[in-house]
Parts: sequence; structure tokens; C-alpha cells
Amino acid sequence: MDIGLPDRKDREAILKVHFVKKPLAKGVDLDSLAAKSAGSSGADLANIANESAIIAARNSHTEITQSDVTEAFERVAIGPERKSKVMTEGDKRVTAYHEAGHALVGHVLPDSDPVHKVTIIPRGGTGGVTWFIPPEDRVFVSLVQFKDMLARGLGGRIAEEIILGPDKVTTGAGSDLPSAAGLARDMVVNQGMGSKKLRNQVFHVDEGMMIERLVHEREYSDETAKAIDDEVESLITEAASRARDVIKANMHYLEVLKDKLLEKETVDAEEVKQLLSGAQMPKAAALY
Ligand code: ZN
Repeated sequence: MDIGLPDRKDREAILKVHFVKKPLAKGVDLDSLAAKSAGSSGADLANIANESAIIAARNSHTEITQSDVTEAFERVAIGPERKSKVMTEGDKRVTAYHEAGHALVGHVLPDSDPVHKVTIIPRGGTGGVTWFIPPEDRVFVSLVQFKDMLARGLGGRIAEEIILGPDKVTTGAGSDLPSAAGLARDMVVNQGMGSKKLRNQVFHVDEGMMIERLVHEREYSDETAKAIDDEVESLITEAASRARDVIKANMHYLEVLKDKLLEKETVDAEEVKQLLSGAQMPKAAALY
């Protein structure tokens, strides 16, 4: 948890300050913006307010609308859309399956944050984006939440694997795989969330960390390093197989969301919920 970032109440107050001299349309919901901008700094929030005004002007709005604010939030959070980048039809189709895979797995797993938006419009350095936003500020993350994050993070690659075949997967998962590996390693090394014998031990090597001196007098051995690698691998394997179970049990919904993405390019939270409302959680993917 970063120290010094404003909490939800503070964010709402900061947003109100930055919007006070701007022509905000009636009904624009700064409270829900405060809720979903967890992790933003004061400067980010000021940026969102300024971007909102710029975007409203560009759209020839006399007042800043909800959609101007949403677009500003997304620009600040992950970078501008790159509508000019031309994607081939084939790339679009793969991206649509890939993002639908992330969204479907995240939607179905019980301890995942809800889907905020899915898009196949390239943004920042990515082909498409599936966003999950926690409903409110969260201080702690539980083991099952971490595991659902891991599984949904692999959902894109697994969807490709199921649709295209294991040898035709693409570089679309280029950043998903390192972030899943990093998350799994963090769980094992820093959070004491390994799956077997390493549970409740931490292997932090920061200088002067009390916990490190209590648990491990010396740096950990080759044997321990190997045990850590094994545990990371088993977390990733478990996550991939849960993602596979969820997608295979809900192929119809993968197709439905993929088709909608190809049609509209961006699908928001409400529509994702509607489209996937019949999707089932398969027993095989259950953790408890
Ligand atoms: Zn992905």
C-alpha cells in the first residue's frame, strides 16, 4: 500500500476543488469517479479535471459531461487511445478473443474485482485492455483474490490457446505473462502465500526488515530458491488451469463478448454484466 495517497473521501474532496471553477454538467458523478480512482495521487486527480475540460472543449460541449470525465480518467489512468493505429481484421479478431478471455474469467471467478470496461482499441503500448476496478478502496488483498487475479490475468492467453491452438498463440499476452509471474513470486516471497511448505514464511531480503531477521538469519539457500521457483510455477499452473476451466465451460459467452467487441470495439461494465449474465462458475475452478 502506498503511503500518502489520498483515500476515497480525500479524493472526492480533491476532485471537487479541481472541478469547482469548471462548468460541470448536472448529474456528473464525482463520487463514483472518486471510488474508481483508488491509487491516484492528488496530481493525477488535478490532471483528470484538466483533461476533462480539454476533452469537453474538443467535443464542443459547453459543459463537462459524464463521458468527458470518464474519457479523461481513462487517459490519465492508462494513456490515450490510439485510434489511428490500424489493426488487421485478423489481429482484431485475436485481440477480441484475448480481451474477452480476460473479462470472462474475471467476471465468473467469485473473488475477482468487477469488469469496468473491455476494449480492443489499442491504448498505451497494448493491443486492447480489460479493466477491473475494485468497488472501493481496498487495504488488504486475500489469497483467493490474488488467485483470481492470476487466473484472469492469464485468461487472454488461454482464450487464444483454446481458439487458435497452443502453437498459434500470439505476443498479445506479452505483458500478461511477466505480470502474472511477478504477482505469483510476490505472493510466495513477500506475502507468505505459497501453496505448500513455504506458507506463512517470507523471504524478504530488504536490509533492516525486522521480519527477515526473525525468519531467516541468512540469505536463503539454493534449495529454498528452488522451492520458491516450484511454488511460483505451481501457482501459475493452477491459475492457467482455472482460466481454462472457466473459458471451456462458457465458450458461448466468449463468442458473444468477442462478437460484441468486434462490433463496438468497447464494451462497458453494464453491458459486460448483461452479456455474461448466464455464464457459470465451473466446479473445477472453485477454490473453496
Ligand atoms: Zn492480455
